[in-house]
Amino acid sequence: MSDYFNLEFWNLWGRMASYVLFAITAFILIYYYIKLSSLGEYKKKYDYINRNEINYLWAASITLLIALGIFINTLVIGGELVWIAVRAFVTIMMGLIIGVIISNLLKFYYPFYVEKRLKKLRYTPRISPKSGKPMKLLTEDEEDVYLDEGMQAEENVFSVDYDVWIDEETGYTKIEKYAGHLIALQCPECNYQTLKVVKEEIIDSPTTNEEGELMKFYKCDYCGYKERKAFRIAKLKAPQDEGITSS
Ligand SMILES: [Zn+2]
Repeated sequence: MSDYFNLEFWNLWGRMASYVLFAITAFILIYYYIKLSSLGEYKKKYDYINRNEINYLWAASITLLIALGIFINTLVIGGELVWIAVRAFVTIMMGLIIGVIISNLLKFYYPFYVEKRLKKLRYTPRISPKSGKPMKLLTEDEEDVYLDEGMQAEENVFSVDYDVWIDEETGYTKIEKYAGHLIALQCPECNYQTLKVVKEEIIDSPTTNEEGELMKFYKCDYCGYKERKAFRIAKLKAPQDEGITSS
């Protein structure tokens, strides 16, 4: 008697499990893109993509790979137990290899594509709710008037960027905050877009007389390259009118 074990049973249930996993894969992707397209504002889309896209794609890849692996194994009708085991083992190994490849693509190549789309979302002119016309993005020099002191300090010191959009007709402004440490730079060592700020430390606090110093620590996600750069922090503004009002 040959070892047929109950293959039909496994094929049937395996097939069902793979269908469920295919459905979950589709659900993950559909959920992500529906959620993304439901976000009206560019800034919200930007944040959502930045935080979620790669994670969702990774989750969908895993469920898809497992679904495919199981599905392929249910296609063979007969066979001995040994061969079934060998086939399952080969499937798992192949799955792991493909998984590693996808993981690397998502980590090191895909971010280029994401970055491009994010840039477009960030710099597409905002529409003013007051006049319905496109607003203008102020330059770093122009925008200071619209940022309070806390925002300016934050911008000067940490990896934070504020974008100020102004409706030139009505004077309506819209301020958007972007976290610089989420944005990866190009690594000088491996040339991937994977160099990120991992830590920021104030070495010298600025005073009203002297500039301060900030150290930024960078690390490359891909090759592990590390570097640090010192940045000046502008002098604190002397409180105005001090000592003048005393009579
Ligand atoms: Zn690198």
